[in-house]
Amino acid sequence: MTNNHYVGRFAPSPSGDLHFGSLIAALGSFLQARSNHGRWLVRIEDIDPPREVSGAAFRILNTLENYGLHWDGDVLYQSQRHDAYREVLNTLHQRKRCYYCHCTRTRIQQIGGVYDGHCRDLQLTPKNASLRLRLSQPVYSFYDRHLGQLFADPKLANEDFIIHRKDGLFAYNLAVVVDDHFQGVTEIVRGADLIQPTIRQIALYRHLGWPEPAYFHLPLALNTDGNKLSKQNHASPIPNNAPLPILAKALTFLGQDLPPDWQDATLQSLLAWSIQHWNSDRVPRRAAFSSHYSF
Ligand code: GLU
Ligand code: ZN
Repeated sequence: MTNNHYVGRFAPSPSGDLHFGSLIAALGSFLQARSNHGRWLVRIEDIDPPREVSGAAFRILNTLENYGLHWDGDVLYQSQRHDAYREVLNTLHQRKRCYYCHCTRTRIQQIGGVYDGHCRDLQLTPKNASLRLRLSQPVYSFYDRHLGQLFADPKLANEDFIIHRKDGLFAYNLAVVVDDHFQGVTEIVRGADLIQPTIRQIALYRHLGWPEPAYFHLPLALNTDGNKLSKQNHASPIPNNAPLPILAKALTFLGQDLPPDWQDATLQSLLAWSIQHWNSDRVPRRAAFSSHYSF
């Protein structure tokens, strides 16, 4: 029976194929949702066409299915959600909760990298402008269900951050909040690389008067140089032909036991066992090397 109260999700950007690090985020959010008898959604975050790799969205979905990670309902594509983002921007405008900013990246770098509110009261025009949230309720810390209370750098917490970019693209923080709210997501399980933007996302929920989801950040998988596995670091895609041993490695990475006979298990039975035995307390709280996870 599904519990309608728990909704989780995996929200990959199609800027590359699924690598071991993104498998951890997919599997962690899947197990957390399924062990709570909840729904597990998949959303393709294709709001940044210049960073998109052709065919990646299709291959990500295909790989998830190959690994037995079946989602509920239809996949939501952010590229189809522009009207919803626009509407929220309009609401923020009407409430005078945002403003146009003409500052260049160079200027912001010169003042130390954090925006200083320069254009807040200048009533600038939309032409060549970014749109920033007029922060009236900065968020300095949040409770992470896995990591406990986390504190942000106050300079970053006080920054009027960008919600619509100068180049016309919607900002990640805006899109992710609008969509998680729209999809009724109750708990966000994702990689620890997204801890920093969390305070901004919570600030958006509060400025919009929307209920906040819970957060649970998973450890990052690092390569031998100590950098996180990412598309930017050219992490290799996980193979589609032999998912079982990779899935077992991902479960081990997440601190979970494997059944003694896992090598003879089917993908479905290993996943069913893992849902039943999922213990989120055993997930490591620090980033871990995944050098021996080469394939
Ligand atoms: N699309 C983001 C990424 O792939 C993740 C967004 C999220 O989980 O909040 O890094
Ligand atoms: Zn400005």
